[in-house]
Amino acid sequence: MSGTDSQQPVVDKKRKSKETVANPPNKRMKHPHPSLPDFIKHPTFWADDGSVLVQIEDVRMRLHRSRLKTNSTWFAELFDGKISGGIYDPDIMEQDDDGLPLYRLDMMDVKLNDFEVLLTAMDNALDFFLEKPTFSCIAALIRVSSTLQFPRFFSYAESILDSQFSRMLSPPFSVKEAVEAIDLGRRYSHPQLVKRAFYELARVPGQFRLLVTPNEDQLPKGSSPLLERLDVGDFAILLDLQRELSRTWLELTDLPPIGCTQPGGVCASSSPSKTWEIVHGTGIMKEHQLDPMSGICKLAEIDWKGNGYCDGCRNERIRFLTEQRTKLWVEKMETWLNLQVPL
Ligand SMILES: [Zn+2]
Repeated sequence: MSGTDSQQPVVDKKRKSKETVANPPNKRMKHPHPSLPDFIKHPTFWADDGSVLVQIEDVRMRLHRSRLKTNSTWFAELFDGKISGGIYDPDIMEQDDDGLPLYRLDMMDVKLNDFEVLLTAMDNALDFFLEKPTFSCIAALIRVSSTLQFPRFFSYAESILDSQFSRMLSPPFSVKEAVEAIDLGRRYSHPQLVKRAFYELARVPGQFRLLVTPNEDQLPKGSSPLLERLDVGDFAILLDLQRELSRTWLELTDLPPIGCTQPGGVCASSSPSKTWEIVHGTGIMKEHQLDPMSGICKLAEIDWKGNGYCDGCRNERIRFLTEQRTKLWVEKMETWLNLQVPL
């Protein structure tokens, strides 16, 4: 039940207005059969004209069978009795007193919060995707739409994962999101996401404390409790990655000299001591020891011309830095993490 506390999906006001006063939502209901456990009516996903009951843990939802069937291959087969252990298995289906069939999804290993995200997306897919869902929402949608076979939602969520979360270092990931991203990226074959998530964990050294702190109450004030942490193998990968990033940054900031071809005398690029002074005098060196991707961008933004470089040498410096950045992200990172990344 932790999912509902931490991440409540958008509430559908239209659905809420359909609730009846005599049978208020979110109230623990006594099951008519004493042998069966109580349940809670979902505060949002309870349509009075719904034709099927779906329950996860002790939360029951009243939904439209036709909408589930249209969108999900799994529900279509379940309703058609094609899933073994479906209709005749009392563990997954009971007959409610209202005459509506009740399906319990616990055995499908579907989290309540993930299913709520899916139902929110189904209610108004356009708004859901236009409002730029968070990484956790997209992760939830991928998990649930894969398990319960909602193909359109699965492929749309995957495309957002690739376009918004796998390629850039923005928006930033929290530790919890990065750990979730590593698991999701491996499970659904998104190596770019795994790469980004490891980099996010590696570039902020203080995050190690969050990963190794054994008890939630020992976490620094203001940090969110982590649902999952890295296992020992991934932790070793993370330590190796930090070492490689640091070593690469040291090598990279020792910028090679440029053969200046400016007529009338060479510019400042020909002086290694001047270049050293520019790089080290800015503080960029120290600041980006574990984050060379951002560090290279900062180096490219230096006012090289203001520091005595000619146009040609400035352009060559930026070309070299851009090339190194691509090499680091595409070649080195994938080698260090042993990833097979599709082009
Ligand atoms: Zn020059």
